Amino acid sequence: MMDFLTQCRAAIGEQYVLDTPDGMAPFLTDQRGRFTGKALAVLRPGSVEEVAALVRACAEHRVGLVPQGGNTGLVLGSVPDASGAQVVLSLARLNRIRQVDPVNRTMTVDAGCILQHIQEAAAAEGCLFPLSLAAEGSCTIGGNLATNAGGTAVLRYGNTRELCLGLEIVTPQGEIWSGLRGLRKDNTGYDLRDLFIGAEGTLGIITGAVLKLYPQPKACITALAALPSPAHAQQLLVLMQDHCGSSLTGFELMSRYCLELVAQQFPQLPRPFAGPHAQYVLLELSSSESEQHAVGLLERAIGAALERAAIDDAVVATSVAQSAGLWQLREHIPLAQAKAGKNIKHDISLPVSRIADFIAATEPLLDAAFPGCQLVCFGHLGDGNLHFNVAPPAGVSNEDFLRNQDQVNRVVHDSVAAFGGSISAEHGIGALKRNELARYKSPVELNMMRAIKAALDPLGIMNPGKIL
Ligand SMILES: Cc1cc2nc3c(=O)[nH]c(=O)nc-3n(C[C@H](O)[C@H](O)[C@H](O)COP(=O)(O)OP(=O)(O)OC[C@H]3O[C@@H](n4cnc5c(N)ncnc54)[C@H](O)[C@@H]3O)c2cc1C
Repeated sequence: MMDFLTQCRAAIGEQYVLDTPDGMAPFLTDQRGRFTGKALAVLRPGSVEEVAALVRACAEHRVGLVPQGGNTGLVLGSVPDASGAQVVLSLARLNRIRQVDPVNRTMTVDAGCILQHIQEAAAAEGCLFPLSLAAEGSCTIGGNLATNAGGTAVLRYGNTRELCLGLEIVTPQGEIWSGLRGLRKDNTGYDLRDLFIGAEGTLGIITGAVLKLYPQPKACITALAALPSPAHAQQLLVLMQDHCGSSLTGFELMSRYCLELVAQQFPQLPRPFAGPHAQYVLLELSSSESEQHAVGLLERAIGAALERAAIDDAVVATSVAQSAGLWQLREHIPLAQAKAGKNIKHDISLPVSRIADFIAATEPLLDAAFPGCQLVCFGHLGDGNLHFNVAPPAGVSNEDFLRNQDQVNRVVHDSVAAFGGSISAEHGIGALKRNELARYKSPVELNMMRAIKAALDPLGIMNPGKIL
């Protein structure tokens, strides 16, 4: 049997098999710098056939492989473990936009395409690819699909799953399945595509995808509302949806503490209100008609919200620059948190109707267990998704506080479970939340997941140690 790495070099060319420490280093550390794995090699194929040849080599030699796109994932899913026995399979060289079909409103792409390039290619055809997240300049569509990424436009357009019509997959046996169908209706048996979306590379490698495109909105306007409580934010969401229907594209909740943190760390950013408020909601409306139409809709909805005392105050951006300024407040929360120190992060989802009760119930539990800890609570309220991060009390060092990670997780995740929520809304499970998954999924559900994994990947070579 040919030596494994010799077989890989023969399949994709010597220069694309990296096995020196310097060559491999950029692929081994996770996004937040929390973990650096070891690898036998980093493989950089340039075509679907090369991916398939590498997977066949891995299967033959029983080598575990870790698919990697932009390595922006937040749950240690795209880096190898510490054994040095796995390979990283980078999809970065598969970066072609294969075809745009403006009539079918679809685009067929390689999995290694950077999300921003896909957005730009859609815009060049007068279309919109609505997936948008802060990592869009470096994450890939393969990674977005493998994690079923969310982002800022889920309320209107859905998660990545909803934006995908077809996939091309290299199976764990090294076969190529071309499911690149641009069909909106296709009831021909099990939906295999949906199995691979959100599977975090544990069932096969995504090498291509057919994506849905939408008409470009004619106008997009933004407003910031100030409110007394998360319960008022829920009320505002229903009111906005009743008034604006699918024109409502963004609905982001931010607590007073979040904006205070942003103001401390980034004093140059705008402060839209004279005084503080308990909660804020960033609203975005898109219109397929005109800016006038969008402004009219928003003003009527805000008027109704003020009348019903759902909000205390609101500012509407009157220029693109003002709108960008309001979004910057939201986007700078994670950056302000990172500048201020470490915190224990949770990426949770709940039924929208239970969010206010969840926050009201969980904050006191945290405060009782870790007196003085700071809750940094913000997120895509319209999708029921909260970033529910816990920062150390004043005077407690980051290191001392982080030792409580398991106990903090227990308080938050037990409460999430009690309110019918999920411990991962967006980022996935990876290696980081494997134990949490085992704790909160029922044995029946876990057994079905294990059965699917065993059926598709009996050798267990696809991203070993992730999810299950
Ligand atoms: C600043 C920042 C903001 C973010 N914001 C959001 C957000 O708003 N919403 C959200 O959902 N997520 C967000 N994320 C996390 C999100 O998961 C990733 O940014 C993105 O979806 C991952 O894409 P990637 O190409 O970097 O994948 P990677 O990090 O490389 O991989 C992620 C997972 O997918 C697997 N994988 C990658 N490519 C493939 C493939 N072709 N086939 C099979 N498996 C594959 C990997 O093995 C790994 O398990 C954010 C991350 C950062 C750093």
